[in-house]
Parts: sequence; C-alpha cells; structure tokens
Amino acid sequence: MSMPTYTLVCDRCDFRASSMKTWGIFEYQDTEGRYPCNRQLGWCADCNDLVPMEDFSNPDSYAEHIEDRLHWLKSETYSAWQAFLNALSRRRRTRHQEWLVEAEAALRGLRNGQLRRGTERCLKCGSQAVSSFDGCVDVRLSDDGMVFEGRNPTGYLHPGCGGEFVAEGSEMRFSMRFFTRVYSPEGYLLAEE
Ligand SMILES: [Zn+2]
Ligand SMILES: [Zn+2]
Repeated sequence: MSMPTYTLVCDRCDFRASSMKTWGIFEYQDTEGRYPCNRQLGWCADCNDLVPMEDFSNPDSYAEHIEDRLHWLKSETYSAWQAFLNALSRRRRTRHQEWLVEAEAALRGLRNGQLRRGTERCLKCGSQAVSSFDGCVDVRLSDDGMVFEGRNPTGYLHPGCGGEFVAEGSEMRFSMRFFTRVYSPEGYLLAEE
C-alpha cells in the first residue's frame, strides 16, 4: 500500500519529521481483547521528537462504531421473519456475534478515553510530557490524487529551538508494511507485530 506524505521541517535547524509517524495499526489490549487506539501527531519532551500520541478528544469515532453495529444488528433481528432466517443461517449468526464483539470493543475504547482524558501518553516511550501538534498543515492532494503539494508555515514552534515547523508536500509516495502496535489500556507499549 502506498500513500502520499508530507514532511515537517524546522526553518531554523535541520529537524525533519515525516507524516508517516502516525501510520500503522494502533490497538489497545485488555483482558477481553483489542480495540482501536486513536492517535494524533504530538511533541514528546522525553523523545525530543514528533511522535504518535494518544488522542482522547474524539469519543464520537467510537460512538459511531457502536451505532453502526447496533443499526446493522437491528436490521437483521427486528422481525419474526428475520429470526427465522437467523435460525437457518449460521453465517448470519456468526456475523451478528462479530458485530456484538465489535460494539463491545468500541464501548471499551469510549470508556477508556473518558477515564484517561488529560493523561495522554507518547506512544513511543510512554511519557506524559506530550502535547498535541496543533499547527496548520495546508498541503493539498495533487490533481491526480497521488502526492501532496504545497508548502506552508504551520505556526507551531519547534520546542527548545524556537524555529517554526514548515509543512512540505512530498514528491514521493511511500509504501510501508503496516505493522500493529499493541498497548495496555494505560498507554504502555506491549508488543509490536
Ligand atoms: Zn528547530
Ligand atoms: Zn516519547
């Protein structure tokens, strides 16, 4: 899989970081299973780097997941006829079981976010000395949708340096293997797969 990228470049020193930092699959693991870990780009004072960090600002992403699954379940269980089909079809029953498990997983994500809001961690080192990157990135997809184009000052200052990060569309698309990073509900890395 290949995707367009952009780079954040400091206008005072030689720091560069790629938008690929938050790529990949991030999941939490608890005793009942896994659920998605929402993340954003942030600055970690301990890594002294731009890093992926936890993001608890968007509970709607979990809520939408739950709503979808409930909606689908309802659409296949609402009548006696549906119940009859369900009794006949193992595939339907398996599907319903999967939707239930997914809805429960999203609910655990929602609950964890409520519990942990304000204690976001760096997803590289586990430090809480992180702040979200709130600079403005104004690179745009090229007409053919293949690469990001443009260059703009982001308004976000390089901590400890004072230079400003400039976003630059990259001429290249990058392919990478999507690995999965698994975290405890407290935000500590458990495994990379
Ligand atoms: Zn700098
Ligand atoms: Zn860190």
